[in-house]
Amino acid sequence: MLERIRIVLIGTSHPGNIGGVARAMHNMGLTDLALVAPRCEAITQDSISRASGADHLLHNAQVFATIEDAVGDCTLAVGASARSRTLPWPMLTPRELADRLPGECQSPNARVALVFGREDSGLTNEELQRCHAHVNIPTNADFSSLNLAAAVQVLAYECRMAWMGQHANEPAAQAAPRPDADDALASHADLERYFEHLERALVAIEFHDPDKPRQLMARLRRLYLRARPEQMEMNILRGILSATEKAAQHKQPRE
Ligand code: SAH
Repeated sequence: MLERIRIVLIGTSHPGNIGGVARAMHNMGLTDLALVAPRCEAITQDSISRASGADHLLHNAQVFATIEDAVGDCTLAVGASARSRTLPWPMLTPRELADRLPGECQSPNARVALVFGREDSGLTNEELQRCHAHVNIPTNADFSSLNLAAAVQVLAYECRMAWMGQHANEPAAQAAPRPDADDALASHADLERYFEHLERALVAIEFHDPDKPRQLMARLRRLYLRARPEQMEMNILRGILSATEKAAQHKQPRE
């Protein structure tokens, strides 16, 4: 999927930004960089220094004259924009875009362009209207324009998260097991049964008065949910509750 995503930079004017984009892409596993009518050299001391070891992306970047040339073979083009335009257009958040990617990339010829604008003036309305949808990175409303490489970083990160989600069931990408776990985690239903049992037991030992709950059960829920108990631990806790109830039954009734 990541190899099907092309980062398209339009009219970039600072070599350092192109270098920063290369670095952001290589960090996230993206390889396809396209420059449309760049207003500066792509390979300079500055860009190589900002690429910090990702300069092969600079050397491999394709240069195009127009946006149409750069996205011609793409099946989806999404324009990144800091501003909302007068003409409403399908808008995506970075996460919504990422959620769409695995589906989009299923067709054999899929290629997705993420299009970024000029440092000084962004994308023109004409360029934005070449895109299927626009993506806006949520920001402080009073300061919404990210540095170009930072904007690429945010979207590239979301692409990587979507790709990782897709590979979650493959053994190599599976989350490492918790080092201290020796049983499966309790399910939501296991916990609900436990909470019911806990409340009954706390009533039986007269610790809890449902008429004066003082948020006790809510606080206990928060505690147990935070602990992420395992099934086996849940069984131990339920065993303790049963023994507690039994002991309460044998207890001398109060005078
Ligand atoms: N001054 C320009 C913004 C330039 S920032 C303007 O007002 O439009 C360079 C590019 O980074 C933008 O064209 C856009 O592609 C991307 N970018 C910056 N901030 C963004 C944001 N909040 N959401 C989406 N893309 C953003």
